[in-house]
Amino acid sequence: MVSPETGTEVAHDAWSGAGTAPTPTAKGAGHPANPLVQSKLGPYAGLFFAMRAKHPPTADHALRVAMLCSKWASWRQMEEESRSLLEVAALLHDIGKIGIPDRILMKQSQLDRSEALVMEMQVEVAEELLQGAQASPRLIAIVKQTHAPGMMDPSYLLPESRMLAIADAWDSMTTEQVFRRAHSRERALEELFSHAGEQFDTSLVEQFADLIRIPRPELDAELASRWIGRVVPDLPTGFEHGGPILQHGAVRNLIDGVFHYRMLEAIPLAVVYLDSSGQIVYWNSTAEKMTGHRAVTTIHQLWSSELMGLESLDGGPLAEGDCPIESVIRSHTRLRRKYRVRHQDGRALSVELLVHPVFHGRELAGLILLASDESEEAQLKDAVRSLNEIATTDPLTKVANRAELDRRLPEFIQRHLESGMPGSLMICDIDFFKKINDTYGHQAGDEALVTFAGILRESARSEDLVARYGGEEFVILCQNCDNPSATARAEQMRRKVEETPVPSLNGTTMTSSFGVTEIQPGDDAETLLARADRALFTAKESGRNRVVQLGSGQDAGPSASAAQDHICDYSADRDGSASLVAKLFRGGPNLLLSAEYLTAVPQQVVVQKLEGFIEDHRGQLVKIDGPHIVLRIDNRKNTSLFRRGERPATLLLDVSLLEVQFRADGNSTTYQRRTKVTVTVRPERARDRRLESLRNQALRLLTSFQAYLVAQPVTEELKERIIEPR
Ligand code: GH3
Ligand code: MG
Ligand code: MG
Repeated sequence: MVSPETGTEVAHDAWSGAGTAPTPTAKGAGHPANPLVQSKLGPYAGLFFAMRAKHPPTADHALRVAMLCSKWASWRQMEEESRSLLEVAALLHDIGKIGIPDRILMKQSQLDRSEALVMEMQVEVAEELLQGAQASPRLIAIVKQTHAPGMMDPSYLLPESRMLAIADAWDSMTTEQVFRRAHSRERALEELFSHAGEQFDTSLVEQFADLIRIPRPELDAELASRWIGRVVPDLPTGFEHGGPILQHGAVRNLIDGVFHYRMLEAIPLAVVYLDSSGQIVYWNSTAEKMTGHRAVTTIHQLWSSELMGLESLDGGPLAEGDCPIESVIRSHTRLRRKYRVRHQDGRALSVELLVHPVFHGRELAGLILLASDESEEAQLKDAVRSLNEIATTDPLTKVANRAELDRRLPEFIQRHLESGMPGSLMICDIDFFKKINDTYGHQAGDEALVTFAGILRESARSEDLVARYGGEEFVILCQNCDNPSATARAEQMRRKVEETPVPSLNGTTMTSSFGVTEIQPGDDAETLLARADRALFTAKESGRNRVVQLGSGQDAGPSASAAQDHICDYSADRDGSASLVAKLFRGGPNLLLSAEYLTAVPQQVVVQKLEGFIEDHRGQLVKIDGPHIVLRIDNRKNTSLFRRGERPATLLLDVSLLEVQFRADGNSTTYQRRTKVTVTVRPERARDRRLESLRNQALRLLTSFQAYLVAQPVTEELKERIIEPR
């Protein structure tokens, strides 16, 4: 069998000593293992440090092999002298790599023939170095034999070399290498057994397999005591020989270490540790997956944004001064920022990067980088969004589909019935659409549908739902909107459709008909749609291209109809002037003024607005009897209502509300619901004689009243378009 570095597949694959530890390590004088190594190696420590400077993974590997050998020796109850020799040989067994060029040591694939030959030179280099350091011939022999156990007559092999060869192979196989991944423990054992009898001593392989098969906390404790005890001379009594305290601590540390390592490898976050100089000492498997760079190729390198593939959010390289690591080293405060990470294969991920400084006392000891993949979440959200869109949107017109309407309509009705707010539904249908299809073709018809839906969507408010009900019929749910407002909006849409040339119809226009209705008590989806449909049918029947509304909404009921009994037949101002709304002295000496207004605000809301008017004028509600309301306003409390020289009066306002139908324009067949407000003003004290001043105060009060109701005076022209209930 061949030596570890002949370059053959198995040899280089299995036994190279360039393993890396998954645990954090660091370089430089502050390395935690330094005292340990120094106490073990004494005069040879310098060689080891040189090795670590040259190739840190090899030094880490040597340290692990030495610990493993030491543990094994303890288990075999070897003589102290032999055990110590084995430990030192293990620490130095790869020392010859000092003489191997970096390009070979760090090569990420199998060595070729000539490179393997160069690698073999390490045995000679090791011998030279050890001789120069005046190592004992036995130590030199062990190191040499370790590299070529199978080439020698077994009878010449020293027992330490036999053990070291096995421990070396084991550690190499079970750790990550630049040129291959770590083998599982099972696979590594198999390899050892398959070479037992030639490269390795069979009985020793069996013994070693026994050693590592089960955890041996007592051996770990002894090991800790032996290695650490020498480093820390003043350990409390009981520590040196693995006393109960140390045993406990060592076991716990071991378990904790394994637990933390497994946890760090399992979490779906990239975890990277840097030491205070920016050198990477840990790179977990998520970081490997995120970047495409394996731990073995990144650990011991200096961190750089390029190494991690870190880019700015727009995909470019990080700007000068935008390096998160430098920023944390400078500021000593943690940083959380969004970046992109470009995987080696070119894909980019959005990540959130958290960089945390780690302190030892007040010194910065290192940095932890945590990167979470946001793309996964973002992709998931996108997927959910597009699924939702497919489920709820009509593919042709991009408005809501029928299924979405069916889902939203019942809750729309219920919400409005519960809140008492008005809510309306429109249904609209393109006129003579069959003819459009026949004339211009189905494809052009489709495009006309898209245009039509676009007009509806643009004209609707953002809180409204526009849905394709089927074919060329659409439904619009108008939130918090009563019949008159919905009718007005439908009228706007109708006009827009009528005015918009459709490219697919050779620039001609189309017309459409609308049915509008408001939710009334007892409605469900079916009754509401049926009523709107009836209105649409009426619109079609009466000539198309028009809006028809049906129903009286939630105000319908006894109080609304009672309005008819309370109409006060006051004459309105008939001079057509919008500003002067008052008429003097009609209906008796106590009457100051009377006026009529028209407002789009429904009755119920008029009452609310009156409450605001009363409150702001610090008045009182004297009486409310259905749609007939009496208010008292004391002008002494309203300085804006009287002028210098006038004596403030107390005025009574009699207000009557009436729901009327209103034609949108002169020859329209579309009717909208309006509230007619009739108001008279009289002084509270009947024999108040300061008439001129009273009239002026009343006039000012009415101007304010009109503003509160968002009303317009009923002029002669308007009067003709109002239809009052009989
Ligand atoms: P009106 O509504 O004014 O009474 O007459 P109309 O011609 O529009 O009558 P109706 O609503 O009954 O006809 C609807 C036609 O719309 C029937 C069908 O051929 C056509 N149609 C339904 N869905 C689509 C569609 O997705 N694309 C196209 N191009 N045509 C459709
Ligand atoms: Mg139609
Ligand atoms: Mg139709």
